[in-house]
Amino acid sequence: MYFIDVILPIPLKQTFTYSVNEHEARFLKQGMRVAVPFGKSKVYTAIVYRVHTQPPASYETKSIDQILDEEPILNEQQLKHWEWMASYYMCTLGEVIRAALPSAFLLESETVIKLASEMNVEENGFSDEEFLVYEALQHQSSLHINDVRSILDMKNVVKVIQQLLQKGAIEVEETVFEKYTPKVVRYIRLAPEFTSEENLQQLLETLTRAPKQKEVLMTLFMLSAQQKKPVSSVQLQKRSNASAAVLKALIDKGILEEYFVQKDRVEYTGPEGAATKALSEAQHKALTEIKSSFEEHDVTLLHGVTSSGKTEIYVELISEIIKSGKQVLYMLPEIALTTQLIGRLQHYFGERISVFHSKYTLNERVEVWYNVLQKKPKAQIIIGARSSLFLPFSNLGLIIVDEAHEPSFKQYSPAPRYHARDSAVVLGQLHNAKTLLGSATPSLESTHNAQTDKYGLVKLTERYGNILMPEIELVDIREKHRKKRMTGHFSDRLFEEIEEVLKEGEQVILFQNRRGYSPFVECTTCGVSPQCPNCDVSLTYHQFKNELRCHYCGYHIAMLISCMACGSETLDAKGFGTEQIESEVKQLFPEHSVARMDQDTTRGKHAYAKLIEKIENQEIDIIVGTQMLAKGLDFRNIRLVGVMNADNLLNFPDFRVHERSFQLLQQVSGRAGRTEKRGKVLIQTFNPNHQILQQVSVNDYDGMFKDEAEQRYQYKYPPYYRTIKITLRDRNYNKMHKAAVWLGALLQTRLKENVLGPEAPPVGRIRNLFITNLLVKIPKQQSVPKTKKFIGKAVQSFHSVKDFSTVKLTIDVDNY
Ligand code: ADP
Ligand code: ZN
Ligand code: ZN
Repeated sequence: MYFIDVILPIPLKQTFTYSVNEHEARFLKQGMRVAVPFGKSKVYTAIVYRVHTQPPASYETKSIDQILDEEPILNEQQLKHWEWMASYYMCTLGEVIRAALPSAFLLESETVIKLASEMNVEENGFSDEEFLVYEALQHQSSLHINDVRSILDMKNVVKVIQQLLQKGAIEVEETVFEKYTPKVVRYIRLAPEFTSEENLQQLLETLTRAPKQKEVLMTLFMLSAQQKKPVSSVQLQKRSNASAAVLKALIDKGILEEYFVQKDRVEYTGPEGAATKALSEAQHKALTEIKSSFEEHDVTLLHGVTSSGKTEIYVELISEIIKSGKQVLYMLPEIALTTQLIGRLQHYFGERISVFHSKYTLNERVEVWYNVLQKKPKAQIIIGARSSLFLPFSNLGLIIVDEAHEPSFKQYSPAPRYHARDSAVVLGQLHNAKTLLGSATPSLESTHNAQTDKYGLVKLTERYGNILMPEIELVDIREKHRKKRMTGHFSDRLFEEIEEVLKEGEQVILFQNRRGYSPFVECTTCGVSPQCPNCDVSLTYHQFKNELRCHYCGYHIAMLISCMACGSETLDAKGFGTEQIESEVKQLFPEHSVARMDQDTTRGKHAYAKLIEKIENQEIDIIVGTQMLAKGLDFRNIRLVGVMNADNLLNFPDFRVHERSFQLLQQVSGRAGRTEKRGKVLIQTFNPNHQILQQVSVNDYDGMFKDEAEQRYQYKYPPYYRTIKITLRDRNYNKMHKAAVWLGALLQTRLKENVLGPEAPPVGRIRNLFITNLLVKIPKQQSVPKTKKFIGKAVQSFHSVKDFSTVKLTIDVDNY
């Protein structure tokens, strides 16, 4: 008897055992996929974990439906990394696998298939089964796996579907992602029987009465001779000025042949191999220090001020690693924000770069996956957001985590709730690779790790080209209000500075950390403000659409004319977001072009890139935006950055608020003055004496670190204590509360005063679910694995309480 243990992509702890025959047992290897039956009628794609001969004690095994791969699609190092992740972040391996594998790899009974939006396949290449499914899809827009089973009157259909997917005939329905349009290029060549001189002569003679067709043929010869690569139909048509019909006639006659080649969608065609820039003395020194730091530390923190030229240092490191044949992973917080960087790197490394991101279409992701798996040169350098960690690297030499302080490296939901920076460090260790964390404003955790010699530390304190750090001025708007020196939300200082900069033809960034027009509306008669019916938050007013919107659940209604509570027409928009600043600035500077950069204006796949291009080309004078502006953008002509109101950053109820405010303000400031002229930053605030603002204004990272570290130590927060947040959600408030108190008490039996809560988060209800949190703090000397084990057991008991069965529970390790 032979068995395999498989991992299913579901949140159940254990692996599952299925029986296989001897032949299958010989063939199967860890990391191959099999289709397996599950429950009454479900089918899952599972990953083979182990092949063995011990039957499980407690249940009858079912046999597998089908083997789906010829070769493993993942490797041992990946599995090790994922096991670490599941154990560290307290979730199941199945959940990690679901996050890790492109969903096209995980066909299951829930999967819905449909015809590909653009068909480029030959029907006659289909097997009988494939054809039947294909035909059925001509009549029905989509099919479930079970439908396919009845159409084919057979049980094992996953492989058929997989083949249709591979041929590009169908696609998997995926609501969250943009649809995939297969990019297939149609090429034209001469039919083989005419390639001999003699036949060709004859052919040309027969075509004398069809001059257009002859023209096409001659153009084809010419192009083939000129370029040493195939001739595409588009190119041929263009050059010969022929219609599609002429081309078709030639193909129908059997003189020409068409053939299709699938192009990789993420492809770079520009120049490459540009010489890298000569490093400045400071950069060179930093590079040398990084290399020697790597001799002692696997992880090194590069703390380099904004515009110090960290990227050029990365480029040098990458060059060396790829020369040795190893792979490089370059991680960024958000890929949408990286068009600039990708361009810069492609300049040096050309086609060796692949970009990987969950926003990419399924097939793009599958392609990159296979390229990495097969160690293709074009995937030697991977640029990606956090999910690129999961790729099948086998030979990593270097991981760069750029903008390592960014909170978006942490995945909030669903599980695994992992931090990509920390997971990268572990991945690096598994590969014996070096990991470099780069930031102008490192997180407290990273600096703490450097100070305690867990990480190496290299500092770069000057900007490239000896450009000065921008001059930062705090503007007291309480006083400006009192003296009537405000126009809307603009102080006279900010107004003057903007005017000055615009006069010189340079650009301005205005930062406001809220989108929409006003965060809430209030009735001046009765004081009531419209709330979201599903969440405990006020609705934000969006002027452009004249709507009230909930930023948590997307609920929206037309702007009210009168108050819902008292009926008075005295609704007043309170507070301000980017939309309002944009409209004020347009009135103040009507001669200048203004653009807004926030979630509302950058929705489409290319919207963001277009906006960046416009800014780079100086088609825009003033950019109003949210923290999107703070993420590593490199613009040449920004002279002035205005922070409209620093206070709402500082008033956020979270233990990281000071660190985050410092980082954000330093990062936006860092966008100013990246060329010869010194940049300027104006920060408007009601509290110019706030410690953090004072520290921001003189670039005092060390001062910030010292103060914050003391606070964290005193109040038992990271980096001194670890935290695990347990969140409970339910439609019924009382039930949720009771459940939280019960679990809290159970945890306290052992963890004592280090269990805090239950406490409602700032928004205590989202999408009709009430929310409460328990926070567990783990002191340095207490074993983290043991604590997690205990929490795991407590949660297990919790799940066995019937009363709490509807309560949703999530665990967030190292919560952010
Ligand atoms: P950081 O990532 O540290 O904020 P960048 O790497 O974006 O800084 O560099 C800032 C600017 O300086 C970029 O426009 C970059 O092209 C330029 N730069 C950096 N190093 C060099 C160099 N050695 N030679 C020429 N230009 C450089
Ligand atoms: Zn009212
Ligand atoms: Zn809502």
